[in-house]
Amino acid sequence: MKNRKILLEENEIPHQWYNILADMPNKPLPPISPATLEPIGPEDLAPLFPMELIKQEVSAEKWIDIPDEVRNIYSLWRPTPLYRAYGLEKTLDTPAKIYYKYEGVSPSGSHKPNTAVPQAYYNAKEGVKKITTETGAGQWGSALSFACNHFGMECEVYMVRVSYDGKPYRKIMMNTWGASVYPSPSNRTAAGRKILAEHPDSPGSLGIAISEAIEVAASDPNTKYSLGSVLNHVKLHQTIIGQEAIKQMEKAGDMPDIVIAPFGGGSNFAGLSFPFLRLNLEEGKKIRFIASEPSSCPKLTRGVFRYDFGDTIGMTPLLPMYTLGHNFVPAPIHAGGLRYHGAGVIVSQLLRDNLIEAVSHDNIEVFEAGVLFAQAEGIISAPEATHGIATAIAEARKCKEEGVSKTILFNLCGHGNFDMKAYQDYFEGKIVKHEITEEDIRKSLAELNTPEIA
Ligand SMILES: *Cc1c(COP(=O)(O)O)cnc(C)c1O
Repeated sequence: MKNRKILLEENEIPHQWYNILADMPNKPLPPISPATLEPIGPEDLAPLFPMELIKQEVSAEKWIDIPDEVRNIYSLWRPTPLYRAYGLEKTLDTPAKIYYKYEGVSPSGSHKPNTAVPQAYYNAKEGVKKITTETGAGQWGSALSFACNHFGMECEVYMVRVSYDGKPYRKIMMNTWGASVYPSPSNRTAAGRKILAEHPDSPGSLGIAISEAIEVAASDPNTKYSLGSVLNHVKLHQTIIGQEAIKQMEKAGDMPDIVIAPFGGGSNFAGLSFPFLRLNLEEGKKIRFIASEPSSCPKLTRGVFRYDFGDTIGMTPLLPMYTLGHNFVPAPIHAGGLRYHGAGVIVSQLLRDNLIEAVSHDNIEVFEAGVLFAQAEGIISAPEATHGIATAIAEARKCKEEGVSKTILFNLCGHGNFDMKAYQDYFEGKIVKHEITEEDIRKSLAELNTPEIA
């Protein structure tokens, strides 16, 4: 029998997270205060985050211990399986070897609990009673609801309007774990009311929902805020994925030439790729890393590198990143988790230094890839995850054209079992190809008055 599934034992769950900041040849520029344009300090973040996460956010330690209690909860679904995609290879008739790491086996169905659990753990340990957050497609909101419930904390979720309307079962899932869920923009916050006054029919965006969640947390001393992507500590927690994948590839007697992951704010991409990128930086390996984004929200492939806000209203510090501008509201594509205007700071610096690459796919291509994958491998993937599949397929086809065999590894970061409406729209021909114009991008960037980076 072919060995499709490469598994690890429970005791092989890593004991530490990997902090790539320690190994980066060029460290990222610091986050700065929009008021003074001076670097911010840990105390500026204290109203929003518990101290242990702030320490991790700025840490230069290469390895950070995973608390036993967190590892213990991880063992509910970790280690996650790594598959050899024999079915997909056969369908594509490619000489490439394709592997994927499957994060859809977690309780909420994606990689998000890898950071939701430690974030809830550190908050609970510091006496926090309630956590607020945003969610796009509902994956992050579900993960944080699950984690907060475990530690007996309240969870309040601002869910992007299009997803709230289109994915009712994600909301019920959050309710099942005890969370309250509100559509964003909402009239519960000044940020939401401001957007609604200007755009009563706003489909919402992650940037707007973040503004709402931050506003609620900042106004209550017992409440903190939690972000599901973008920040350094989030990427740090996700490195559990790549560390496991290295052990699994070794078990398979193979090593990837190309590592691919879908890209929203960068957390699942970082999670799979950073531990492999360490091998490039430390051992001179020549693995390629490709971040895969939607062509309707192309910050990595068409955005600019400059300081920008992490949210729409401008409540966060200014971060040095690839961005389309914080006012950019992406088209309401089904991959809600990728509808974010910016990219995490670390990933942005790595892209600038050409240590990673980025590509984009349109919203039709990715459904073709998702359906082809479901038929070849069985798993129905989240619309976000189909972006990574589309890139893997493109690379495997290139191998065929060029007559070379490469080893491709991609992150299948979530299942699509709650995304049948998206697949239905695709089958009914309701999805129209969406590309943004240079004009759309120029208009959004022209509104930016944040500092440029030389
Ligand atoms: C949240 C999410 C993403 C996008 O976020 P990243 O931080 O870039 O990983 C992609 N896929 C799934 C399934 C998600 O839940």
